[in-house]
Amino acid sequence: MHDDRTLVESRLKRVLDERIRPAVYPESVPLTVGIWTAPGEPVPVAEGLAAPRSPIAVGDAWGAPWGTSWLTVTGTVPQAWAGRTVEALIDLGFDANMPGFQCEGLVYRPDGTPVKGLNPQNQWVRAASPAVGGEPVLLHVEAASNPVILDYHPFLPTELGDKETAGTEPQYKLTRMDLAVFDETVWQLVIDLEVLGELMAELPVESARRWEILRAVERALDAIDLQNVNKTAPQARSALNTVLSTPAAPSAHRISAIGHAHIDSAWLWPLRETVRKVARTTANMTALLEDEPDFLYTMSQAQQFAWIKEHRPEVYARVRKAVADGRFVPAGGMWVESDTNMPSSEAMARQFVHGKRFFLDEFGVENHEAWLPDTFGFTGGLPQIIRNAGSKWLLTQKISWSQVNTFPHHTFLWEGIDGTRIFTHFPPVDTYNCSMKGSEIAHAARNFKDKGVARHSLAPTGWGDGGGGTTREMVAKAARLKDLEGSATVRWERPAEFFAKAEAEYPSPPVWVGELYLELHRATLTSQAKTKQGNRRSENLLREAELWCTTATLRTGAAYPYEELDRIWKTVLLHQFHDILPGSSIAWVHREAEATYAALATELEALIGRAQQALAGDAGGAHDLVFNAAPHERSSVPAGGAAATPTTPGNCTATERPEGGFTLHNGLLDVVVDTEGLITSVTEVASGRETVAPGTRANLLQLHPDFPNMWDAWDVDQFYRNTGTDLTDVDAITATTHPDRASVRIERSFGSSRVVQTLTLRAGEQRLDIDTEVDWHETEKFLKAAFPLDLHTERYAAETQFGHLYRPTHTNTSWEAAKFEACNHRFVHLDEPGWGVALVTASTYGHDVTRTVRDTDGGTTTTVRFSLLRAPRFPDPKTDQGLHRFHHALVPGATIADAVREGYRIGLPERRVTGSEETVAPLLTVDNDAIVVSAVKLADDRSGDLIVRVYEANGGRARGRLTTSFPLAEAQPCDLLERPWEGTRGDVTLTEGAVDLTLRPFELVTVRLSTQG
Ligand SMILES: [Zn+2]
Repeated sequence: MHDDRTLVESRLKRVLDERIRPAVYPESVPLTVGIWTAPGEPVPVAEGLAAPRSPIAVGDAWGAPWGTSWLTVTGTVPQAWAGRTVEALIDLGFDANMPGFQCEGLVYRPDGTPVKGLNPQNQWVRAASPAVGGEPVLLHVEAASNPVILDYHPFLPTELGDKETAGTEPQYKLTRMDLAVFDETVWQLVIDLEVLGELMAELPVESARRWEILRAVERALDAIDLQNVNKTAPQARSALNTVLSTPAAPSAHRISAIGHAHIDSAWLWPLRETVRKVARTTANMTALLEDEPDFLYTMSQAQQFAWIKEHRPEVYARVRKAVADGRFVPAGGMWVESDTNMPSSEAMARQFVHGKRFFLDEFGVENHEAWLPDTFGFTGGLPQIIRNAGSKWLLTQKISWSQVNTFPHHTFLWEGIDGTRIFTHFPPVDTYNCSMKGSEIAHAARNFKDKGVARHSLAPTGWGDGGGGTTREMVAKAARLKDLEGSATVRWERPAEFFAKAEAEYPSPPVWVGELYLELHRATLTSQAKTKQGNRRSENLLREAELWCTTATLRTGAAYPYEELDRIWKTVLLHQFHDILPGSSIAWVHREAEATYAALATELEALIGRAQQALAGDAGGAHDLVFNAAPHERSSVPAGGAAATPTTPGNCTATERPEGGFTLHNGLLDVVVDTEGLITSVTEVASGRETVAPGTRANLLQLHPDFPNMWDAWDVDQFYRNTGTDLTDVDAITATTHPDRASVRIERSFGSSRVVQTLTLRAGEQRLDIDTEVDWHETEKFLKAAFPLDLHTERYAAETQFGHLYRPTHTNTSWEAAKFEACNHRFVHLDEPGWGVALVTASTYGHDVTRTVRDTDGGTTTTVRFSLLRAPRFPDPKTDQGLHRFHHALVPGATIADAVREGYRIGLPERRVTGSEETVAPLLTVDNDAIVVSAVKLADDRSGDLIVRVYEANGGRARGRLTTSFPLAEAQPCDLLERPWEGTRGDVTLTEGAVDLTLRPFELVTVRLSTQG
């Protein structure tokens, strides 16, 4: 037979595009449209409905950036359409290729009831079915003219990302405003032909199935009268019956589809717009659930449910009902889909506490999967946190974005730093916006790495970010793919149903140990430094507020600020969303985030101040108390307590060197600073050991060009290292000596920027503090602070949640080479047997570690560089411009335990309070420094019980005794949600009124302590 394959395929494309699709709406009449534009921010629905309208016509421009317009569309169903299905077609000026990144609308009935959302791929509203001739149609649309930030030429700097700079130029033109007859048979024919055409394209040309479909398509096209598609569509559909009803092969891959819209809680739009995006999408999805009995939808992020509960109660009522029916499925159990690299141990735990508790309280639902499709990498601390929250599964597809290495599994056990294993699935469809295209379904089946031992994968299906979620077309395609020869099978299934099946069919999945590093978006550890500092400061202040308020409540009966802490925590958790904390949002988001963090700091400082004063007694008293919120004693003040600090005899000196520069001494360290303000030597006095590698200089600021190929705020590409400038020019160096401390201050200018650094040794502290103030006015540059250390080591430790992980210092494999920028929390630690160095940081996360072998002596230099600042221009064209302050410290001779201790101290300064009490005894004491107290708080159930969370911080076994300053009635191990731990737990025992702890390396334990009486 002659090969006419491409001829028929081309015919299918043209006839679909030019004849069949247009026939879905064979007749239409224009609607009359009126518009009112809100003067500023969005207005309440009642106000928008009542506002007076002016006329506007198709073709007219509307919508200043970030504006809100209320449209009213009116019309009458023509008499001739009686009995037919009639829809309003509302095209606000949509670009079908940009669902989620454009204007959007929410349709209301005249009584204010929301109907559904309007999106580029979802422009219809059912007006009548069956229609009555002469019936009036009246709908209102709340239309948001959100500007396009990520355009066809992506990553160009734009001022549109903040309403303060975006201007008033209309962004859209009304394109179609019609009332039209909807021909469902033609619409079904379109879906039939799309499914078959897309499947055909994925089948091998040699396969008989491909040719059977081709011939059936040809017969269907032959059956259509191109001048009367609507009349002949049923015959065309009949011609496809046989090929559409041939069942899938028994070995076919099985896809659990779940309706979904990945809605970023802020990104290329401000937080307030996400509230409305969620309302539009959920209105769409509850409407679709009513129309489609097999369809199921899942939504993550408790915060987004809380938003619609507060701002769109009518939509929330529909969501509640659909959740109760089991068809709208809360997913993930986190407050937001947060970043996981940077949140602190406690914050990561609280993401699950507040997320799961919201779903339990609102819906009585507890789910067991962590749902993080889009998060930029996953820390080795996360598995234990997931398990401690009472969950057991993880879903993400993000690692498929890695630039270099292909992850070897789609379904596997992921083992964290403490040994906890979590059953994990990466959907092989490689997207969280599946649209049921044949290419996507075939890719999922082909790509699935666990074929032969497993058969199931999951496909989150629908347009995210305000694209409107799943469409009726996707549902119709899924119905045809349920059991179709040549395709993977598709069923709507809840995430829990998928995980249960996947786990059951795969009893011995492969294991991946350690972090799930994303080989992309590495610069999100640095961009928008002030957002990151606000987060870290809030986390530290929350620790202090909980500790001191709990102590004050138990000691003095002061009221515990449950509501305030709950609200502040949720605000901090929201800002850990995976485009806010990573610094990848528009200027508006980061401007607001800084203001929010400042307000939280004021509020938390007040809570801390009140509690400490209540504990210290009368402010006019005679005692100067130092409060220590860190988990270890310092300056003779016990952890969690307060006392007067003894005055250390000061012996700090700064001396000018004859050859220029200065030396600093405090009896523990000798530091040499040269004439260029760089550190040439740091010697531990006790051992005589040198820290700085010979021939090098530490605290060297290095400036690199930084213009990645894509994703400016997100990415730093490896070639940034090829060029760079060492900042060695000095404007001034001065030294100051005070008995308690000795400092050298170095001032430099470079480009359009200035930097002032102060190096300080303090009495009694084996630590060199480095305070850096940068007035930063560069563009597309990366600023690093380098510390070349005289250490030979294969690996180094970086702190993460509830412990640390090791990364190699070499680049033997492509996996190691790809980790050229990595995350730490408060410290990195490097050592040779018996001697190590810690570098601690108050607020930076990005760093790199490299190794070189010196020509001179054959020794190894291991260089740690902290990442201080970047200056990308997309999506915020002025990212990081302005004044920044950083605090780092170099700790020679440090063990891991020292690194842990110094890491806590750098973020938790001593607080001095005057009062009438001589001391404040800690509420509880742990007699082993390896067991670190992560949180002390009152139980969220307001029972008055005390919750204490501890973990083993050094990576070894630890036994210890936790004693309380109050009579202890009971000690109950519990999960993060403060519920009794399920099953046995021998590591926590109550003996003689104290709690004995036996912890595995990095083990985390939460204990509920009940007071007597
Ligand atoms: Zn996202």
